[in-house]
Amino acid sequence: MKDFDYLPAAASAATPLERPYFFDAGLRFECQRCGVCCTGAPGTIYMGPDEIDLVAGHCQISRQQFIATYLYPFKDSYSLREDDQGRCLFFNAGCTIYEVRPLQCRSFPFWFSNLRSPARWARLRQDCPGIGRGRLYSKEEIMAWARQTEHFSAED
Ligand code: SF4
Repeated sequence: MKDFDYLPAAASAATPLERPYFFDAGLRFECQRCGVCCTGAPGTIYMGPDEIDLVAGHCQISRQQFIATYLYPFKDSYSLREDDQGRCLFFNAGCTIYEVRPLQCRSFPFWFSNLRSPARWARLRQDCPGIGRGRLYSKEEIMAWARQTEHFSAED
């Protein structure tokens, strides 16, 4: 594997788009709404401070109630809780907050961590049937998503 296949450890806004990546020709993705990424193995679902009011309003409860019921502290903000099986509390035969879902969900699968190498992308493809289907996302679009997700998906 050549070095240029990898995103750098920090994909700052200054990361040159001219630099070659394994997704130079773009990547196809269309969510199949299978729910695999919303269920299964436990994980974190980062919810930024600015996202909480929107989802709380959608649920018609106060910010305080929402935090106490659905969130736990994570990084500089919160993560959505899951049930004992690792299922997102808002997954019920589909996402029940789809219109207001947090950035982590909206940006999947183009997370910084998923784009670190072709091998990681290939592994993710085994779990997500939406990868390789549907619309072709350009390198510029993919980089834009990756930059937005760096704060919750980059490894420490
Ligand atoms: S695993 Fe992929 S196809 Fe299935 S719900 Fe998640 S993003 Fe959509």
